[in-house]
Order: sequence, then structure tokens, then C-alpha cells
Amino acid sequence: MKTLNDFNFKNKKAIIRVDFNVPLNDKFEVTDATRIQAAKPTIIKILEDGGSCVLMSHLGRPKGKQDEFSLQHIVAKVKEIIGVNVKFVDDCIGEKVEEAVANLEDGEILLLENLRFYEEEKKGDVAFAEKLSKLGDIYVNDAFGTAHRAHASTTIIAQFFEENKCFGSLLAREIESIDKVLNNSEKPVLAILGGAKVSSKITVIENILDKVDHLIIGGGMTFTFVKAQGGSVGDSICEDDKMELALDILKQAKEKGVQIHIPVDVIAADDFSNTANTQVLDVTEIPDGWQGLDAGPKSLAIFDEVVNKSKTILWNGPLGVFEMESFAKGTIALGHSIDKSTQNGAFSLVGGGDSVAAVKQFGFADKVSYVSTGGGAMLEMLEGKSLPGIEAILK
Ligand code: AMP
Repeated sequence: MKTLNDFNFKNKKAIIRVDFNVPLNDKFEVTDATRIQAAKPTIIKILEDGGSCVLMSHLGRPKGKQDEFSLQHIVAKVKEIIGVNVKFVDDCIGEKVEEAVANLEDGEILLLENLRFYEEEKKGDVAFAEKLSKLGDIYVNDAFGTAHRAHASTTIIAQFFEENKCFGSLLAREIESIDKVLNNSEKPVLAILGGAKVSSKITVIENILDKVDHLIIGGGMTFTFVKAQGGSVGDSICEDDKMELALDILKQAKEKGVQIHIPVDVIAADDFSNTANTQVLDVTEIPDGWQGLDAGPKSLAIFDEVVNKSKTILWNGPLGVFEMESFAKGTIALGHSIDKSTQNGAFSLVGGGDSVAAVKQFGFADKVSYVSTGGGAMLEMLEGKSLPGIEAILK
């Protein structure tokens, strides 16, 4: 696996695919700069070597060239975070851009305009990728969030750099962290899968059964498993058409010696609302008119024990409707358990959309070993797929 450390960037121009797809408010100010922070180590290494950085990214989902999606809006933030002046050019290919790149001196940064102003980017257009490839001597991919897409700047461009291409430090860490969980893990290995639906996690569950010793299934998925085994789930979210699949997963787990832990009790509510009436109920005895929206105290005690004895922990998906304070306790308690286990030497990886939001919201982001930056990309890796953006560098 080629990384930044395999190159000396002195007098070299690096064309770097970063993920600066950051949220902006209505004044076009960056409201969460985590992704810019995440790209900093790569940029600094190249500048310290004595090279220069040409940064390319997408922002949002523009339809053609739309000013509200211009990367111009984030120039000041990038400058503030990296601590180096940032030049900007209002296009990402063509003469003007090539000229700006030619004028770029060692130690300087140039940010290109939104790649998705061209539909060729998402189409993975070869001619467009070739034009991008002219903007640097070495191609660096540091955008995990888009590594599962065969877009021009994430994948296709790599073919124009025979040897001179590598992973940035963020992407390298993402790959190493997932590898540490899936392939080089210290046992016992635990995966915690929560979230809303079995259907969106099914491929992950199936792939992960070969890799783990324990599997905690929580969140809305719980009820499909409970009902499939004959329990009453009341008005809880449930995918009736996935009940057979749930039984099959339980059977497979048994055959593979994986211990599955499903909540035994829940915080049930009489409405999908933060102010609903609530009661703790046995997960198999939820009457009509009530729905399980969080894991109950007995379940949390069991999960704590499992987390405590695990040496490798993967967490994807909240245990309850954490967006509402009344149903966030399970997710917070799980975060505390993982924090404790990490302090005792376990490796903990959190990733995949909502769980990242949850760990950030509840202050666990720096208490776990690694928080993945790519929701969809992480899920695809957990599903056992190889990602085109990663393959393109390895080729
Ligand atoms: P996912 O994107 O699949 O990880 O699902 C995350 C969503 O699942 C969050 O928005 C949670 O509110 C939701 N969720 C978690 N537990 C439950 C539950 N018991 N009932 C309904 N939704 C839930």
C-alpha cells in the first residue's frame, strides 16, 4: 500500500482529492470543519517536504455551475485551519487552471472549484480525468467519503499516474482501521449494529458474521428479530418481510459460533415523540399502542459486559432514537461502555453515518480509537466490497 511516506514531495506538485464536502449555513459559513481538519496532516506533510498542493473536492449536489456550491465559500476556513494562505481558481480544468498551477510555488496551496460543476466528474469521464491529471506530478487520494465511487477525481484519474500515486494519511488510516477490525483483529471481536432497518444493514451483518465472536443487534432492527421469534413488538418499527432473513441470520450465527445479543428490554413509548409517556417493557411483550424506542436497563447491563470483555469493537448505528433526549440514554450508555473498554486496551472503531453524529453529539469522538469519516464507504468495506478509489491506487 503506497502512502505519503513513500514519496518526497520536494519541488513536486501534488494533486490531492480531498473531501471538503462540508456543511454550510445560510451565510455560506462552514458549520462543521471536521473534514478540513482531517485533510490537514496530508497537506502539511507535502508542504513540509517542500512541495505544493493542488486541492480538488466536490461540495454538495450542484446541477451545473451554481454559486451556492462554490468552494470559494470555504477558502477562508481552509486557510485558518491549515495555517497557510490558500489560492483559489474558479474552475477545475482548462487553461486558466493550468496557468494557476504553473504559477504555484513550493509551499503554496491552490484550491480548485467544485468538481461537480462538471457532470463528467460523477460519470467518471476519462477525458475529464485526464485534464485533472495534468494538474500535478503526484496524485494523492485522501477522500475516504467518496472512495466507493468510481468518479473521475477519485478513481479514473489514477490511471494517468503509473507509479506516482498514493493514499493520503487520512485514507491510509481509514483503511488500516477497518483492516484492524476485519482482518487483523485481537479477539474477542464485537460488532454492534444499530440503526433503523435490517434491510440497510443485511449485507454488513452477513459479511461480519465470519469475522466476529459477538454481535449486538440494537435500534429499530431489534424488533424484526424479536417478532420473527414469536415476540410481540406492538407498534415498534418492524420489517415483516425480513423476518425470515432474521431467522436465517440467527441460524448462521449459531453455526459459526457467533453469540448474538439482542435487547431483552426496551424503553417503550406511546408515541414517536420526545414527550411521549414511557415505560420499561420486556422486548417480547410490547402491547399495541406502544413502540420500543431505546434499549432498556437490563439490556444495557448485558451489553456493557460484552463490550468490557471485547478486545476489538466495531460500532455502527445508534441503539435508539438518539435524536430525542428521552431515547438517547441507551446510545450514551453504550458510548460509555466503549470508552471504558478502549481505556482498558480495546481497539474501537465507530463509523457509518448516524453513529458518527451520535458519538460527536455525546462527546465520545476522542474517546474511541478511531471515528471513520466515510459513511457509505465504510459500510461498503464492512460489506466486504473492494472500493474503486482504493483499488485504483493499488493497481
Ligand atoms: P441508520 O441510518 O440505519 O444507522 O439508522 C439510524 C436511525 O435509526 C436514527 O435516526 C435513529 O433514530 C433510528 N432508530 C434507532 N432506533 C430506533 C427505534 N427503536 N425505532 C425507530 N428508529 C430507530
